[in-house]
Amino acid sequence: MFTNTRFTDWDLPEGVIKGIDDLGWEFSTPVQKDTIPLALSGRDVIGQARTGSGKTAAFGIPIINKCEATGKLQALVLTPTRELANQVAEEINSLQGDCGLTILTVYGGTDLEKQAKTLQDGVDIIVGTPGRVMDMTERGHIELENATTFCLDEADRMLDMGFFPDIMWVVEKMTSRQQTLLFSATFPQEIIDAANEFMNEPEFVLTNVEELDIPPIEMYMVHIGRANKLWVTGRLLAQTGDEGQTIIFCNTKRMVDLAVQRLSKHGFDVAGLHGDLNQNQREKVLGKFKDGQFNTIIATDVAARGLDVDGITMVINYDIPNDTDSFIHRIGRTGRIGRKGEAWSLVSRDDSAQLNKIIATYGLNIIESEAPELPEGMDRDPVKKQDDYGETANVFGFVTLSLDIPQSAAGSSRTVSNWFIKALNCKELEIGDVSFEQQKTLISIHTSKVGLAIKALEKREMAGQIVSASIV
Ligand code: ADP
Ligand code: MG
Repeated sequence: MFTNTRFTDWDLPEGVIKGIDDLGWEFSTPVQKDTIPLALSGRDVIGQARTGSGKTAAFGIPIINKCEATGKLQALVLTPTRELANQVAEEINSLQGDCGLTILTVYGGTDLEKQAKTLQDGVDIIVGTPGRVMDMTERGHIELENATTFCLDEADRMLDMGFFPDIMWVVEKMTSRQQTLLFSATFPQEIIDAANEFMNEPEFVLTNVEELDIPPIEMYMVHIGRANKLWVTGRLLAQTGDEGQTIIFCNTKRMVDLAVQRLSKHGFDVAGLHGDLNQNQREKVLGKFKDGQFNTIIATDVAARGLDVDGITMVINYDIPNDTDSFIHRIGRTGRIGRKGEAWSLVSRDDSAQLNKIIATYGLNIIESEAPELPEGMDRDPVKKQDDYGETANVFGFVTLSLDIPQSAAGSSRTVSNWFIKALNCKELEIGDVSFEQQKTLISIHTSKVGLAIKALEKREMAGQIVSASIV
């Protein structure tokens, strides 16, 4: 977790030593030990290290070291989200102790005029998101040509298709750029190639020999149909109780809203976090979560990267992310700096291929599990389990029922299907093939009618007897 290199082993400004001391840190983490001396020497650095391993300070300390309180922009740090910009700015601010640097955040959704005024009063370090930084530069409130240090946190995300043109725009404006620092837990090769285009012989630092260094997070998967993901979520939250905090990831804003609505209805105190909320709401939700006023938030990938909340002990992938890297970043919200954490992935049949791809890409060890039991003393599920036959259906949506009745008693396949068509009052199309096996009769029925069919069999006799049924 920590190396035996102390922060005092480096020649850092008094202010920084004081800042680190006030934070109660003593020893550096591996990524800090490996990258800080390089960055202090002025080299370009690409640093890859696991989530929660202290990358912020790995770039923050050298940046502070190089800046002077002049009120002229010297360093620009870009992050993919506003929340992360805030967090990074706060950490750099703590680390600078009494160096007196002015560190400002610049991101969208906040008052432009007010921001312009603050910038006018002078700034040494800006931490921001690309869009607003570009905007403020074009309006003349930010002088990128003065800044000598450029840093991308979550750099692979910043250099992917979505942000890349913006980053290049910024790079071109930073005409005095001397040093570039890139940090992330994941670095696909194509991103490193792209980075080489604007970096100067960067030193690539990988803090672990393995390609991907994953913190000690226990990973589980539960195979469950969409209809019952909420039921499993209810159990997981019930198990956790007040013992820790949970972040639930969904793939879309709409799904976040729906999950918030439904879990609230079932008595859970949850809040949603996604890009359609206004800045005020976003900050409020995250603030309350960090303060422990909420134990659970439900979020899109806007919260997947970088967020450092001490109390998170469990991550739930309600949806499996479409982007494989996202999985690593999502689960990395727990198990930070040596803490324990659990990550649960809820896998419907449709999600299976994607999760398998993620497992294969990173060689993950994810334990197959049932939904957890209800905690002791709780006798009712917070969210009721639903009948869901979708998971056992074939591609045409048919499920096979095995009936405890031999062909000799059941009669022909025609008689059997007619019995169902009549009992369910359904279309012939909704009843599939009938076949016979030793003492059993097998019939395939469309998923939408399976529940009804089971009920009908409980109530009505078939060939003069009550027949029990099970799903194959
Ligand atoms: P990463 O960016 O690698 O995911 P962070 O920079 O967010 O990780 O750091 C994770 C947590 O560890 C933060 O709460 C940070 O304040 C703390 N931390 C970082 N370095 C140290 C250190 N050397 N000693 C103790 N705590 C540290
Ligand atoms: Mg980080």
